[in-house]
Amino acid sequence: MHLLQNQDEAVRILRDTGALREGHFLYPNGLHSNEYLQVPLAMRYYQHARTLSVGLSRLLRANPEIRALIPELSVVAPATGGLPVAYGVCEALRANQVYWAEREDEREPLRFRQYLEPRPGEPVILVDDILRSGSKLTQMKKLLESRGANVIGLAVIIHQPTPKTQDFGSLPLYYLAKLDAMYYADVANCAMCAQGVPIEEVWV
Ligand SMILES: [Zn+2]
Repeated sequence: MHLLQNQDEAVRILRDTGALREGHFLYPNGLHSNEYLQVPLAMRYYQHARTLSVGLSRLLRANPEIRALIPELSVVAPATGGLPVAYGVCEALRANQVYWAEREDEREPLRFRQYLEPRPGEPVILVDDILRSGSKLTQMKKLLESRGANVIGLAVIIHQPTPKTQDFGSLPLYYLAKLDAMYYADVANCAMCAQGVPIEEVWV
């Protein structure tokens, strides 16, 4: 199988599959940006999904503390977008299990499926396709910790920090590539709005 050599290659896969798009985008939280990323568009191609997941798993494996815990490690996704990443990472690492949280609608808190309980002290890698605001990953971390699990790292395909990205403190963060998009707080502060560039609203 193909192994990623560098961050540019991960970005190229995202561009080629239409997952990474350039333009003028309005996010649900009101920010304007010149870039939009929808990783599932890349993950629909199985070989690309595999290349990206294996690349991420190699970064995790390089941490000796994580490597030592692999046989008991859970790979947990906060939403369905993280699922192909979670399965790919779990397979590549030969970790113990994958699970995820979900909710009926955006106003509800995240929850696990009935009868799914992390065991006390269970080591967990939180996995998602992208770290942008980090709000879902933060909720997921709180949920896991409230059930006694031990979150030991965070792994995402792309880290795309925004002015509103939450801080995960000393938790190790792994990503294949970091994208520094331009963000504007609102219409009044947006360079593209000033130039009259048509804007596209994105869902997530
Ligand atoms: Zn704008």
